[in-house]
Amino acid sequence: MFLSPPSDPNLHPGVPGSRRWICRVCGFIYDEALGNLSEGFPPGTLWDSIPETWRCPICRVTKSDFDPLVD
Ligand SMILES: [Zn+2]
Repeated sequence: MFLSPPSDPNLHPGVPGSRRWICRVCGFIYDEALGNLSEGFPPGTLWDSIPETWRCPICRVTKSDFDPLVD
C-alpha cells in the first residue's frame, strides 16, 4: 500500500495562503495573501476557496485559465 500522495506541487505550489496565480490571458495576478477586496475576497482567501464561477476581473476568463505563479 502506498501513502496518499501529497497535493500535486505543480498544481498547488507553495504554502497555502501565500500562493499567487496569474491569468494566462491578461496577466492579472491573484495573490492569496492580499485577496481581492474589490471582488469580495478578504486577504488570506485561498485560491481553492474561490468559486469556480469566478471570472478574471480584467478579461473574464475562468479559474481554469489561471496558472500558478512561481518565483
Ligand atoms: Zn485575465
